[in-house]
Order: sequence, then structure tokens, then C-alpha cells
Amino acid sequence: LYADLSAASCSDDLTKSVSYGDVCHFVKNEMENTTYKLIEALTEQLARKVLIHFPIIEKVTIEVKKPWAPILLPIETVSVVMERAWHTVYLGIGSNLGDKEENLKTAIDLLKADELCKVLQVSPFIVTAPVGGVKQDDFLNGAIELKTLRTPEQLLNLIGEIEEKLKRVREIHWGPRTIDLDILYYDNEVIRTKCLTIPHPELQNREFVLEPMCNLAQNLCHPIFGKTIFQLYEDLRNKEN
Ligand code: AMP
Repeated sequence: LYADLSAASCSDDLTKSVSYGDVCHFVKNEMENTTYKLIEALTEQLARKVLIHFPIIEKVTIEVKKPWAPILLPIETVSVVMERAWHTVYLGIGSNLGDKEENLKTAIDLLKADELCKVLQVSPFIVTAPVGGVKQDDFLNGAIELKTLRTPEQLLNLIGEIEEKLKRVREIHWGPRTIDLDILYYDNEVIRTKCLTIPHPELQNREFVLEPMCNLAQNLCHPIFGKTIFQLYEDLRNKEN
């Protein structure tokens, strides 16, 4: 278990730490009351449940050993080891169709309803002019800070489902949308795959992203440019002026 123990070590107060006895009983209870076909699934679920149930724990490493594996060789156990952690994520959110504020709030409620996400902060919403040349209504934009147990791909799936639920209109590129959710940052990670670029490749060019982000994390450093959100915002404003 990985946790910040500074408060407990300075105060000598168990409530500021994690009681390993409680964790052991929690794990025993889970193992007795759930059944999985694969030790992979058991390990994944145990990791998630421990991280959700004990908020002070930031990361776990779990090994599940299976005795008597059907190998017909003198091997005592086979095992799966997993490391799972809460990740800090920033999302950009926008809407310019229908009741925009209601759309943003509904999307945030759907994020809150996901047990693998904890919404920590939501920026004030700002009205912004559309970019990209398509004639359309102004946007309402904001940014969200959350902790998640989802991988970047799993988070992309979730925001896709939320966009789907809010019936985002996708016909026109850069056109109106009931909701648009983008992953801006995922920890300090740099990811470039076919369907995912993190940090978001356009964030440094978008005032409607940087302004709400200034409210949440103005000192957050971009892992490629080595600049804080506030510096990127100032650079962009100077360029525009
Ligand atoms: P859009 O909704 O116009 O932002 O485009 C959504 C598509 O962009 C998704 O299907 C993703 O595959 C892709 N994409 C790439 N990087 C990101 C990111 N950081 N956040 C959200 N979508 C991304």
C-alpha cells in the first residue's frame, strides 16, 4: 500500500494512516464473497475495491497466488501481480447546442457517477466564440480535475459514452455539439497512439482551454513544453495581441 504517511507519523494518530488490519479483513471479506474465473479478474477487482474503499491509499501492488494450478508439474503456485493507482487527470469540456449549462452539468454528473472517477474540481464556465470557421453559436467551456483508476484508453471510452448519451451531433467537423470532452493531461504522461494524444495537442492554442485550466492548476507543468498552464496562457495572449 502506498499512502502519504506524514500526517500519521507526525501526530501518532492511527486515523491519519491506514489500518492494515482493516485492509486485511476487507480483502478477506471480498475473497469470501466474490467468485472469479481468472486470478487476473480477482486481482484487478481487489485493487480497485481497496483503492475506492480506503481513500488515503494512493497506489497498491497486489499479488494473488493460486495454489494447485493444473500444470502437472511440481510448481507450488502461479500468480498475478498488479500495480494500480489513482491518476490525476484534467478534462476540457464544452457545449454550444441546447441548454449548454445543463449539458455541462449532466456530463459532470455522469463522470461523478462512475465509480472509477472522483471529480475533485470544476472550473467556472466561460462563454467563448467558436473557432474553426463554421458559423455557429457561442460555446460554454470549462475544465475538470479528477482522479481516476481508468487507463487513458478506458477514460477515452467513458467520455465517448458520455458524449453518446448526450447525443452529440458529429456531422460537421468543428461544428455544433451538445457536449465535447477532451483529455488534456493524464498525470505527467506523454502518449501518442492512433486514437489518443496526451497532453491534448491543441491545448496551448486554445484560450477556452487555458483560461478555465488557470482556475484549477495554473502551475501545472506541460511535460513536453516545460511550461506551466499560466505561461502557456500568457504566451497565447501575447501572440494574439
Ligand atoms: P473531438 O471530439 O473532435 O475532440 O475528437 C474525438 C477523437 O479524438 C476521439 O475519438 C479520440 O480518438 C481522438 N483523441 C485524440 N486525443 C484525444 C484526447 N486527448 N482527448 C480526447 N480525444 C482525443
